[in-house]
Amino acid sequence: MSEQSMLAFDRQHLWHPYTSMIDPLPVFPVASASGVRITLEDGRTLIDGMSSWWSVIHGYCHPVLDQAAREQLDKMSHVMFGGLTHGPAVELGRKLVEITPHTLDRVFLCDSGSVSVEVALKMALQYWHSKGQADKHRLLTVRGGYHGDTFHAMSVCDPVTGMHTLFEKSLPQQLFAPKPTCRFDEPWNQADLAEMEQMLERHHHEVAAVIIEPLVQGAGGMWFYHPEYLKGLRTLCDTYNVLLIFDEIATGFGRTGKMFAADHAQVSPDIMCVGKAITGGYMTLAATLATEEIGITVSQGPSGVFMHGPTFMGNPLACNVACASISLLLDNPWQEKVLAIEQQLKTELEPARELDTVADVRVLGGIGVVETREPTDMARLQQFFVEQGVWIRPFGRLLYVMPPYIIAAEDLTRLTSALIKAAEQTTAT
Ligand SMILES: *Cc1c(COP(=O)(O)O)cnc(C)c1O
Repeated sequence: MSEQSMLAFDRQHLWHPYTSMIDPLPVFPVASASGVRITLEDGRTLIDGMSSWWSVIHGYCHPVLDQAAREQLDKMSHVMFGGLTHGPAVELGRKLVEITPHTLDRVFLCDSGSVSVEVALKMALQYWHSKGQADKHRLLTVRGGYHGDTFHAMSVCDPVTGMHTLFEKSLPQQLFAPKPTCRFDEPWNQADLAEMEQMLERHHHEVAAVIIEPLVQGAGGMWFYHPEYLKGLRTLCDTYNVLLIFDEIATGFGRTGKMFAADHAQVSPDIMCVGKAITGGYMTLAATLATEEIGITVSQGPSGVFMHGPTFMGNPLACNVACASISLLLDNPWQEKVLAIEQQLKTELEPARELDTVADVRVLGGIGVVETREPTDMARLQQFFVEQGVWIRPFGRLLYVMPPYIIAAEDLTRLTSALIKAAEQTTAT
């Protein structure tokens, strides 16, 4: 198939994430990818600044992950998880229990991030149901969050900018506290939690859980807030008898400079969602972890079981690659690499602060953000970045990179200089 006819079919028939079927933005056909380089069908190569949405932390086509996939292919790609189990699932469960905050030791393997959020919310609801407190059925969260595209996940996304307002009438009405405003590296201000506390005081009798992205609000605004917020929130949830759910789908597996964002605050949630980087970006997989108490309480309820079980639960191929990806992370000085990326991002993005077009520059771990004053023209900038030989996908007023951890310093410089050039060009449109 020629590139032309491929693009024509794509444009006519394929939905891409959040796209129009009438006037879709251009897409670039990819032939292959290796390390931090994406090769387009026309032969151009792009340095990857996105890790394919947080997931490809070790780079593309990593020999260790390729081998883990091949070895598992020769045994079995899939087998149902109802009534059967297998080495890759058990090994992955063991690894997740080991590296996540200490109180989490019950593991539900599932297909994608949004599903792991659904599972977390269902666990919280079933927990209170089992305790005879079914009135605790609502969720409390903060504004500016993003937790996925399925229905209950949508209900806890930011109610205004969360892209889901049109479904409002079909969504359960949840409770929203203001988004944390105290920056990651600012002196902590206890007032940041005041409204959250008032809402818990007022509503705890009907609240099952607080769900939050720890430290980094991702798709909802690439905002970094203070770890003390999480400590205070843990105390409040204990005081008001409300479960605490951390959505670590974006932050998990080292992105913020610690294995999990929760580790910055040394806080252990009751339930935690992981996904995205879990297989090093090889295939879709996610997990929901919970405490022993939640596991037991849910199972002591009238149903006697947790009410969820996807067809591809514990897919062996995905689990085996996930095991290899976690081992690869642990066997390498990932923390030094992420810190080096952080230092370089801070140094090289700093000049953007001087630009009239730029409202803010922020860096945490392997995430660098330049926030512009005016919304960027995504289609034009996307083309510009490709011409610069980099793959960066801006969003609203946010220009940002989160490269694979293996990126070389000179490649990272290509990304940051493209980002600054883009910010310079961003004029009020
Ligand atoms: C991406 C993301 C999700 C949804 O994960 P999918 O795999 O896209 O369903 C949920 N929560 C957070 C914080 C995410 O970044």
